[in-house]
Amino acid sequence: MSICYIALGSNLDDPFAQANRAIAALTQLPHTQLVEVSPFYRSKPLGPQDQNDYLNAVIKLTTSLSPIELLDALQSIEKSQGRVRKDNRWGARTLDLDILLYDDLIINSERLTIPHYHMKNREFVLYPLFDIEPELVFPDNDKLSDLVAKCPKNDMKQWIA
Ligand code: ATP
Ligand code: CA
Ligand code: CA
Repeated sequence: MSICYIALGSNLDDPFAQANRAIAALTQLPHTQLVEVSPFYRSKPLGPQDQNDYLNAVIKLTTSLSPIELLDALQSIEKSQGRVRKDNRWGARTLDLDILLYDDLIINSERLTIPHYHMKNREFVLYPLFDIEPELVFPDNDKLSDLVAKCPKNDMKQWIA
């Protein structure tokens, strides 16, 4: 089994319900166990600011799905929760599920970049990941605790349902 961390984001159509529905769907994935869910955070949007705050969380899984099989499964959960893919990156969405890390693999293919690019300076990824895996070390030996210490919280708060 491989260990993976998934980033969850939502800012449309009741993000708290979207997150819980996505977590329920993750528990139903074949060949996969849900290990832990971080606390939920409320963060400011990246890019266009004329959209709602985001709910963000990180989920730890063990799986025997390959990275691409896992991506397909995550995209099908996004789709089943009404995610509409538009041209504008970082626009509002019901659900975004990104693969942050998959064991110590480094992947740079057309469909997958692992570790997820930019994760090292996104507060809404680093803080929830740190909540569930404070000792985590990246494939390049960077320590999560060092990155969190350097990453401003940018007014991110606990999500109050
Ligand atoms: P960002 O990638 O900056 O977080 P986004 O999540 O809004 O932006 P999407 O439109 O959800 O971007 O995804 C665009 C593409 O990113 C997907 O079709 C997928 O193939 C690709 N991708 C590359 N690496 C990953 C990864 N580690 N996890 C999920 N998708 C990835
Ligand atoms: Ca994303
Ligand atoms: Ca995505």
